[in-house]
Amino acid sequence: MDYILAPKDKDAGARPGCIFCNFPASPAHFRENLVLVANDDVAVMLNRYPFAAGHVMVMPRRHVGLVSALDESENDRLFRAVREVGARLREHVKPHGINYGINEGVAAGAGIADHLHVHLVPRWTGDTNFMPVIADLRVMPEYLDQTFARLLPAFAGMDGVFAGAAAEGGR
Ligand SMILES: [Zn+2]
Repeated sequence: MDYILAPKDKDAGARPGCIFCNFPASPAHFRENLVLVANDDVAVMLNRYPFAAGHVMVMPRRHVGLVSALDESENDRLFRAVREVGARLREHVKPHGINYGINEGVAAGAGIADHLHVHLVPRWTGDTNFMPVIADLRVMPEYLDQTFARLLPAFAGMDGVFAGAAAEGGR
């Protein structure tokens, strides 16, 4: 699987220090790195610093910082994946709403500005008080691990290498 997801010619620009380039290329470490699923086009990761439970990110495999830097095919594949992830969250997490967001550039609030990623944040009516709660919980690895385990079934069957399958041999 490491070979399947290893950087290919089109990934020649992968940055050694970029977690969005490297985590999706290492299925053996998907769980610890909070990668839910990855294919040649995109990866889906749980946010280590969630704004709400189930806060995931979808990113292109190519190291690109701007929406406008995506070619048409990459654009289509990224936003088709965003649509699919949103649908999977709707079905499995059953939120009342979802925030979809892109912070393009540091000035726009991007934590990792040079590798584009789309945030999907499930929301529930009346959850405005949830953020302070999460602020206390989000540094707890076991909380993230539980959230990861709860989210995982939502991504079963999505195209690519699935964290649930990658973990089967090593648990
Ligand atoms: Zn990158």
